[in-house]
Amino acid sequence: MVGQGIRTEDLELCFQKLLVLGGGGGKMEGGAVMTGWKDLPMELLLRIVSLVDDRTAIVAAGVCTGWRDVICLGLTQLSLSWCKNNMNNLVLSVAPKFTKLQTLILRQDRPQLEDNAVETIANCCHDMQDLDLSKSFKLSDFSLYALAHGCPNLTKLNISGCSAFSDSALAYLTGFCRNIKYLNLCGCVRTATDKALQAIAYNCSQLQSLNLGWCDGVTDVGVTSLAYGCPDLRVLDLCGCILITDESVIALANRCHHLRSLDLYYCQNITDRAMYSLANSLVKGKHNLWKSVKSGYNNEGLMNLNISQCTALTPPAVQVVCDSFPALHTCPGRHSLIISGCLNLTSVHCACAIQAHRPVSALPHPAH
Ligand SMILES: [Zn+2]
Repeated sequence: MVGQGIRTEDLELCFQKLLVLGGGGGKMEGGAVMTGWKDLPMELLLRIVSLVDDRTAIVAAGVCTGWRDVICLGLTQLSLSWCKNNMNNLVLSVAPKFTKLQTLILRQDRPQLEDNAVETIANCCHDMQDLDLSKSFKLSDFSLYALAHGCPNLTKLNISGCSAFSDSALAYLTGFCRNIKYLNLCGCVRTATDKALQAIAYNCSQLQSLNLGWCDGVTDVGVTSLAYGCPDLRVLDLCGCILITDESVIALANRCHHLRSLDLYYCQNITDRAMYSLANSLVKGKHNLWKSVKSGYNNEGLMNLNISQCTALTPPAVQVVCDSFPALHTCPGRHSLIISGCLNLTSVHCACAIQAHRPVSALPHPAH
């Protein structure tokens, strides 16, 4: 652990040097006298802690009761993803102290977290807004029930790869955490069913970003509900949702005018109809243009579209989409319209690619 090599005597020596360099002989503003590390002003301590890594911040909280109180009440963001072996115990010990946490990143390479750790977070950290539990295979529905009751202010939740959660537990959570804006359910096949999506649509009208990658039980019923319930949706990942058809894309195009990124990788039921509806969505979105200008929102439409492996699409329909949204590019540097794996779409190009291939004779002659 960082800090293990530093003995108390070394710290005292550093402190003495600090006083000499400061030239104040230990005298601080306002006449207070600094006699040791424990007298470091709270603001200064928090400033120092904000500059060190999370591991060191936890060590610093154990220096003395004064530091513990300041750091535990002042720290709002923490990542324990560096903890490769004992994350569950670390959370059990840290969560009851760091009660003001708003962001907690607990991403794991191999599953360590168990329900009692998440229950402790829910019981102690009621201000939590951003929680990353990705790859917590061992967690069960109890974790989601606990979060529903303890963390009603969640705006961002990542449970990608948490394969044991049921759809009813997620539906339950959305009934309590209604401010969720970012939800990552990638690989949660059991969790992200149409029933769960209907609950999200009903409860989380502010949702802006949803990852449903490889949730292959999702159908048009779920996606259509989302399109109607979450009109502010900006980023939607449906890669590998093999059951969805044009109906899903048409509903999104009609209802979600802020949609900026759509991933349809491997959605092989998608046809040209879906592409034309996306191109038309820009026209519909224009009705809200004035509102967007007033709120300073850029209304350029889609900025990322992945239709890789959507083998039923034809070049004219995809070219219309590419021409409709100036931010979509097929050129190597920008690559925001991804069509790899669609051998019949090789003729689709963005405007800059067409310009690059234009013969020199076609350029206007400079005026003499
Ligand atoms: Zn381009």
